[in-house]
Amino acid sequence: MTLDVAWAVDWTRRTADEVFARRSELNELDRQIGDGDHGENMARGFTAVIARLDALEEPLGTVGDVLKLIATTLMSKVGGAAGPLYGTAYLRAAKVSATPALDAPGVVAMLEAALEGIVARGKATTGEKTMVDAWSPAVEAAVAGSTGGADAAAVLVSAASAAELGAVATIPLVATKGRASYLGERSAGHQDPGATSTAIVLRAASDAAAA
Ligand code: ADP
Ligand code: MG
Ligand code: MG
Repeated sequence: MTLDVAWAVDWTRRTADEVFARRSELNELDRQIGDGDHGENMARGFTAVIARLDALEEPLGTVGDVLKLIATTLMSKVGGAAGPLYGTAYLRAAKVSATPALDAPGVVAMLEAALEGIVARGKATTGEKTMVDAWSPAVEAAVAGSTGGADAAAVLVSAASAAELGAVATIPLVATKGRASYLGERSAGHQDPGATSTAIVLRAASDAAAA
C-alpha cells in the first residue's frame, strides 16, 4: 500500500483539527518553560494552511506539493522558533516526496528529511528537551519498521508511538536549546511543547493512513 496526495491532505486537516483542539494544552506547556504561545503559533500557522488548501483551484499533484504548501505557509505565518523549524522540516520533507504516493521507504525518507531540516536549522541534538526528542525516536522507529517489512501505514503507527513516548520522555530533561534553556535546571519536570506538537503531527499522519 502507498500513501497518496489525498492522504497528505487528510494528514494536514487532521493535524490542524488536533492542533486547534489541543491549543490550550500546548500554550500551557509553553507557559511552564517558555512564553506560552506554542499553541497559538501552531494554530495560527495551520489556520493559514487550511485556508490555502481550501482556496486551491486545482488539486495538488504530489505529496511534496502538499508538504511545500505547509512549509511556505508556516514560514511566513509563524514567528518564534517553531515557524522556521517546522517550515524547514516540511520543506526538506517536500523535496524528497516529489511523487504521487509514498511507500514505506518513501515515508522513512520523508521523516528523515524532516528531522535533518530541524537539526540543520536549530542545531539541537537529542537530550536537549526540544522537538528533536520526539522526531529522532520517530525516525528510528520508522527505519526499524520499514527494514522489518512494515508497510507505509504501519511505519507511521510506529513513528507516532515513538514520538509520543519521546515527548513524555522530555519531562525530566534540562533544556539546553531554545527559550526553555533560559530556565536552566528549572526546566526539568515539564514536557516540551514542541515535542508534544511533533507527536500530534505524526499521530495525525498515522490516523490519516488508517482512515
Ligand atoms: P518560541 O520559543 O519562539 O516562543 P514556540 O513556543 O512556538 O517558539 O516553540 C517552542 C518549541 O520550539 C520548543 O518547545 C522546542 O521544542 C522547539 N525548539 C526551540 N528551539 C529549538 C532548537 N534549537 N531545535 C529544535 N527545537 C527547538
Ligand atoms: Mg513559545
Ligand atoms: Mg514566542
